[in-house]
Amino acid sequence: MFDKILIANRGEIACRIIDSCRRLGVGTVAVFSDADRAARHVAMADEAVHLGGPAPADSYLRGDAIIQAARDCGAQAIHPGYGFLSENPDFVDAVEAAGLVFIGPSAKAIRAMGLKDAAKALMEEAGVPVVPGYHGSNQDPAHLAQQADDIGYPVLIKAVAGGGGKGMRRVDDPRDFADALASAQSEAKNAFGNPDVLIEKYVLQPRHIEVQVFGDGHRAVHLFERDCSLQRRHQKVIEEAPAPGMTEDMRKTMGAAAVRAAEAIGYKGAGTIEFIVDGSDGLRSDGFWFMEMNTRLQVEHPVTEAITGIDLVEWQLRVAAGEALPARQEDLTITGHAFEARLYAEDVPAGFLPATGRLAHLNFPDGARIETGVRQGDTISPWYDPMIAKIVTYGATRAIALRALESALVDTEVAGSVTNVDFLIALTRHDGFRKGEVDTGLIGRDLDDLIAAAEPDPRARALAVIGLAGLADADVKGGATMWQPLRRTISWEGGQAMLEVLGPGAARVDLGDSIHEVRWQGDRWWVDDALRRNRIVSHDAGISVFGGRTVHLTRHDPLARDAASAGGDALTLSPMPGLVKAVHVSAGQEVKAGDRLAVLEAMKMEHSLTAARDGTVAEVLAQAGDQVEAGAPLIRLEEEEA
Ligand code: ADP
Ligand code: ADP
Ligand code: MG
Repeated sequence: MFDKILIANRGEIACRIIDSCRRLGVGTVAVFSDADRAARHVAMADEAVHLGGPAPADSYLRGDAIIQAARDCGAQAIHPGYGFLSENPDFVDAVEAAGLVFIGPSAKAIRAMGLKDAAKALMEEAGVPVVPGYHGSNQDPAHLAQQADDIGYPVLIKAVAGGGGKGMRRVDDPRDFADALASAQSEAKNAFGNPDVLIEKYVLQPRHIEVQVFGDGHRAVHLFERDCSLQRRHQKVIEEAPAPGMTEDMRKTMGAAAVRAAEAIGYKGAGTIEFIVDGSDGLRSDGFWFMEMNTRLQVEHPVTEAITGIDLVEWQLRVAAGEALPARQEDLTITGHAFEARLYAEDVPAGFLPATGRLAHLNFPDGARIETGVRQGDTISPWYDPMIAKIVTYGATRAIALRALESALVDTEVAGSVTNVDFLIALTRHDGFRKGEVDTGLIGRDLDDLIAAAEPDPRARALAVIGLAGLADADVKGGATMWQPLRRTISWEGGQAMLEVLGPGAARVDLGDSIHEVRWQGDRWWVDDALRRNRIVSHDAGISVFGGRTVHLTRHDPLARDAASAGGDALTLSPMPGLVKAVHVSAGQEVKAGDRLAVLEAMKMEHSLTAARDGTVAEVLAQAGDQVEAGAPLIRLEEEEA
């Protein structure tokens, strides 16, 4: 076994790898960017090396600097985690050329699976069923259109270099083919530098079922399947193992196909064979087809660990250190059922926009496995994937594990950024999902209902008002303060309510649209005579009410108001670190409140910065192409005459 390894990653996966290293007595070296100096993975590791600026290209993608760091620290091997350099065969070559071990497959195996068209051709040869379609090299639009006709609509156009759901277009009508092809190619060219596509039959009522494989370079075993059909825009949201409705027969057939796939490329380490399954008529052993192989540890690997009792990172280290496969196929069994939900900082009603923020309050429940890279007080920065945590639950049956997931999500407390937690809770309560009737279209079909079920609840808002008034504070609740009948306005950023204290432990809250009676006793709260499973938490950003349909109220910030009244609205500041894409005004120009002044690109999205008031532009302090920090002044208006 290694004495010391370097982890070329950040966030939850770096922390998760460190956990296993610690248990195995392996020393750890973390790497970090400027944005991650104080990050959890840095604090957990035995040593840490600074790489560079926050952009991945200046830090986590700098293979040369990472290899140098490993050598300087005396690490013998590099674990790449997922994302970043994990599927980059040139990096693997460089690691090995430096005399270090890459904890993962060979560069050759990664190359073989790197492009979806070549991978499909290879799998066909190995006798693995592939999705019917065209994966040849002729990229002539007329030829591809002819192929689509032959395959039969609906078809799916896929970037051969694709990943993360990019460069993919479903086409239902031949008349739309040319446009869809052009847009898939241009997206693929932009994202991957390779415009080539393949055409597949679009499987109706598709389920995404993948098989975890593990190889030692010669032989491979499989660790059963995961169902990842709960997706939004081809991105996984909740995963589970085993797959609901899986038969012993189909599991054997899929497992054997996955092992064949891994052995065909001499696969070493942990990998995943992704299959698309026709779920229109139950699961049948002739109804699954290879889509692609992910040649790394997968985000959702913990559900497999939960049902097999195996630590996949331990296996990765042992096999990379030269040990044989730690188990034979017949030693591997499934016990129970597991779920994983991906908790993100994102604004669901705004279209799942990635969010940022300082986590003013963060508390996870007991009884679930939590994989996270952040602690209370940490910041979700715009530089990386906005995942806050993976919440993994386990139970003897699917129903028990799903209840445990619902409960764990209800008991998850995150303030300081909006999250998708209430959306995830709504999903755990979805009838079809509860019954195990999953397919990749489930979320899209019921999106409006799922979002509505996750909307803030006025009764929780009434509790937040109680919290803001200080009535939930321990000393007040405990009766240390005398109550007195009281009617007053409680206000917060963007809203207000009328509060009337009726007696000890009783109040009426008028929210404008609705009026609620609140009663309390210790930590138990009733709103309109119904007992609530809510928790009221006060933190430095305001008040949050947790327990499903989360409500956050932000306290007025007296400092911010002072700044504004001192002429602060004359300055437009960058709200986050990012790239100035365009500046739309010049000095001397008259602007109206709400006019677009500049466009900032951050978190892979464009944000318009608008004028806070009418005025004349005094100074433009940034230009297109500038990389700016949060708080950097961009545009200054002339002071208003008093
Ligand atoms: P999984 O099936 O394990 O969820 P994904 O394809 O969704 O795998 O991606 C896993 C991780 O890799 C994600 O955290 C994502 O941010 C990252 N990732 C995916 N595609 C890319 C890419 N093209 N470039 C960089 N990172 C990527
Ligand atoms: P990526 O590299 O982006 O992960 P995949 O080939 O794995 O691309 O496909 C991503 C998702 O797209 C799948 O999980 C599935 O939901 C959907 N998908 C892919 N191929 C098909 C198909 N032939 N028919 C229906 N859905 C598909
Ligand atoms: Mg995939």
